[in-house]
Amino acid sequence: MIRQIEKPPRVAICRTCKGTGCVENWSSGGELETCPSCEGSGRLVVSCKMMVDTRPYREGERV
Ligand SMILES: [Zn+2]
Repeated sequence: MIRQIEKPPRVAICRTCKGTGCVENWSSGGELETCPSCEGSGRLVVSCKMMVDTRPYREGERV
């Protein structure tokens, strides 16, 4: 049986820039630039969609 699990979008702190909205670009000598993940807002909208497949387990069956 396949079930679809969907979690509503929520706002989370961006891990790339730790919520600051900018990251140090080491290839250009450590200059600060806008975080590419959150585009400078420091936050991300995270949503989740999963497919879960369940079936009965029979004794001795290899999974
Ligand atoms: Zn960011």
